[in-house]
Amino acid sequence: MSTIVQKFGGTSVGSTERINRMADRVIQEKNKGHDVVVVVSAMGKTTDTLVKLVSEITTKPSKREMDMLLSTGEQVTISLLAMALQQRGVEAISFTGWQAGIQTDSVLGNAHIQEIDTKRIRNEMDHGKVVVVAGFQGVTEDGDISTLGRGGSDITAAALASTLKADRCDIYTDVDGVYTSDPRFVPKASKINSLSYEDMLNLAVMGAGVLHPRAVKHAKKFGIPLYIKSSFENVGGTLIHGKVKQIESSPVIGVTFEKDINRVEMFECEDVEGSREAIMRELATRHIQADVYTQSCRNILSLLIKEQDLQEILFVLRKEKDRWKYSRIEQRSSLSKVSVIGQNMKSQPEIKIGMCKMLLENAVRVKLIGESSISVTAVIEKSHIQKAVESLHTGFGLDYEDILKATV
Ligand code: ADP
Ligand code: ASP
Ligand code: MG
Repeated sequence: MSTIVQKFGGTSVGSTERINRMADRVIQEKNKGHDVVVVVSAMGKTTDTLVKLVSEITTKPSKREMDMLLSTGEQVTISLLAMALQQRGVEAISFTGWQAGIQTDSVLGNAHIQEIDTKRIRNEMDHGKVVVVAGFQGVTEDGDISTLGRGGSDITAAALASTLKADRCDIYTDVDGVYTSDPRFVPKASKINSLSYEDMLNLAVMGAGVLHPRAVKHAKKFGIPLYIKSSFENVGGTLIHGKVKQIESSPVIGVTFEKDINRVEMFECEDVEGSREAIMRELATRHIQADVYTQSCRNILSLLIKEQDLQEILFVLRKEKDRWKYSRIEQRSSLSKVSVIGQNMKSQPEIKIGMCKMLLENAVRVKLIGESSISVTAVIEKSHIQKAVESLHTGFGLDYEDILKATV
């Protein structure tokens, strides 16, 4: 029998009315004869509300208690959805992450799934039940509840689909697919019908928030097709799989951005290159991603980091002041990153040159520009982000009118 994993994000289960509607979607799939496993997020902005509650209690929450708290959001949704299914005469059972056998490492707050023991899930599936699993959570070897990082329910869904060797993993969300840029930010963005795992991974890693990059990695490893679609409209979505050919005529597939970036600089650093290595190792053990670069001649080491990681990184840098021997730290917020995404970017210097020109023409001052094989990224003032993203989107021919013209 075929197995389908369905995942419903926060907006899709934001009210009991919506949970009822999602129950109907589950039943539609079940009635096609599939085994169905459902992964859900916390209702609406529940996780943000829980984070806010913490800020009213302490500025230094322990990671264990934080995960204990944040994992409760998803627990509300699983039981309500299971009840909605039962109310409709469909047998269903809900599982928390640990009941579902999701074992993670011990990096609380940003844990990685190590393995999933699907015995219990399979047993219930064999009895014809729909299994509803809480996204975003698991359990460490020590038996503590762990969370997978914000947006982590996508990871739960893709990892479960991989372990269960599902035929497809459907990600239901509040947009009807993956676009060339965030459609809420760039009204002229174009929907992409079909994407390779590599291209989706590149978009996600560089900031396309529609799908968690680690979810794409799990699906890619086991060749599970991911289908991103709307929870609310019955229109075609975006299929992500391994058989998509690279479109050679369009070197740029999308424009991504991260609005809130912080720069932290360590001055008069005694050994900038050595410290860079050590800091990158330290961040890796904490599953934190940052761009770390050096100005050796001025003994400055700089980090570009996401807002959510700022406090932890400052804590690490301050704690290790004697080890990394620097005189002072300066921090700068209100920066943003904008990236154009494609493949073999380093062998196409015209993309970087074009990007600089377009930004200049739109009076966007570039503070820093860097490239990798999959992207060219500029750091800019946050106040310029809208015009920067829109001008690059238009400049690289991604606006929907232009894509439409190119395809007729
Ligand atoms: P969910 O709660 O369903 O996981 P998310 O908010 O995490 O939903 O992701 C969906 C959002 O991703 C959309 O509302 C959209 O604003 C944003 N987004 C960012 N980049 C893209 C993109 N390239 N294509 C589609 N949506 C995008
Ligand atoms: N509820 C978690 C969050 O808001 C996980 C998720 O929605 O994917 O980040
Ligand atoms: Mg999400």
